[in-house]
Amino acid sequence: MKKLKKLIIKKKNILSAIKIYKTPLWIYDYKTIKKQILKLKKFDIIRFAQKSCSNIHILKIMKKLGAKIDAVSLGEIERALKAGFKGNCNDIVYTSDIIDTQTLKKVVLHKIPINIGSIDMIKKIGKISPNHKVWLRINPKFGDGHNKKTNTGGKNSKHGVWNTQLAISLIQKYNLNLIGLHMHIGSGADYNHLKKVCYAMIKSALLINKKISFISAGGGLPIPYKTNDKKINIKSYHKIWKKSIKNISETLKCKIKLEIEPGRFLVAQSGILVSKIESIKIVKNQTFILVNVGFNDLIRPALYGSYHYISVISKDNRKLNTLKKIKVVIGGPLCESGDIFTQKENSEIYTIKIPKVKLGDYIIFHDTGAYGASMSSNYNSRPLIPEILIKKNVLNQIRRRQTINEMLSLEI
Ligand SMILES: *Cc1c(COP(=O)(O)O)cnc(C)c1O
Repeated sequence: MKKLKKLIIKKKNILSAIKIYKTPLWIYDYKTIKKQILKLKKFDIIRFAQKSCSNIHILKIMKKLGAKIDAVSLGEIERALKAGFKGNCNDIVYTSDIIDTQTLKKVVLHKIPINIGSIDMIKKIGKISPNHKVWLRINPKFGDGHNKKTNTGGKNSKHGVWNTQLAISLIQKYNLNLIGLHMHIGSGADYNHLKKVCYAMIKSALLINKKISFISAGGGLPIPYKTNDKKINIKSYHKIWKKSIKNISETLKCKIKLEIEPGRFLVAQSGILVSKIESIKIVKNQTFILVNVGFNDLIRPALYGSYHYISVISKDNRKLNTLKKIKVVIGGPLCESGDIFTQKENSEIYTIKIPKVKLGDYIIFHDTGAYGASMSSNYNSRPLIPEILIKKNVLNQIRRRQTINEMLSLEI
């Protein structure tokens, strides 16, 4: 029998959130975020990749729990500042492959270190802010990722600097202050691959041959989306990196702090997406369950064929018969045939087995705390939905529902 995945948030709390805020909505669990952060406490610095879940209140939690923050846009810098992170220390790092004029002004004003992803960035920052603190994001010349769209290295990746030597000579020419090296590869739970990444980092560090203060292992720590997914062993992961840092540190004769830059690992499992069944449709011999969220809310299945565990809660407290299950496809309301949550990477749809449901029952998408709300859009002119945080059984609305008028106001 297939293993069941437990709901991270109590049913009672989900039902009260539905009663107060209506569906659809996102719910996050504070305690899960805290638990995940604690798992990484061996790392010198935990830098939250806020693009995975950028709500200011989530950022405030990260700050309170001692994490630092990564920002990939001007908007994310503003969010970090609003959440209380400071610019002129190591709190915020701006990571990107480009920097536009407005963002450039902001990082200079607030003295925010930038993680250089292109030669053009070096020239831009170098010209107006000598001595600016910079990191160098190196393309290790091989890649990985959970999907070809998330590949982060190699010749088909736009991320990081390819010609390290050129980058270094320009950093010197402009008198920029190189403080760290960065490599972000979706390393998964494959330790042989990880060793390859570490080896590439050692090689780059020796090539650069400068005293630096930080090395970042990037993000990409996996979480078990499927019930039989292997969990990453943080201890071995840390050990492999620590060994490489020691090696680099001894050769360059300087103290180096090990950073990790997770997004999903910290927040994915803390979040669920709650939707309501609006139609149960029989199409020839296939059953479509249509809910009130679409890929405008949760895009991962449509974009990458990502899997999210799905469970059901009844609207009226009736016991759902877990023995007599029905085979269904789960879809959303969008006027777009790809608006299906049960689809593979090649867009093929598949069925899942769920208890016999009725209209008005709730479909819950698990592990949607990362790249859920933060990737939502207004496609089909559907307003953004609320985000609720649960801490010690208290519900806090940390983002209210967008109104249709707010959505239209940019055009009127
Ligand atoms: C997206 C990203 C991360 C986080 O990736 P996760 O898979 O969510 O851990 C970390 N660092 C950089 C530079 C990123 O672009």
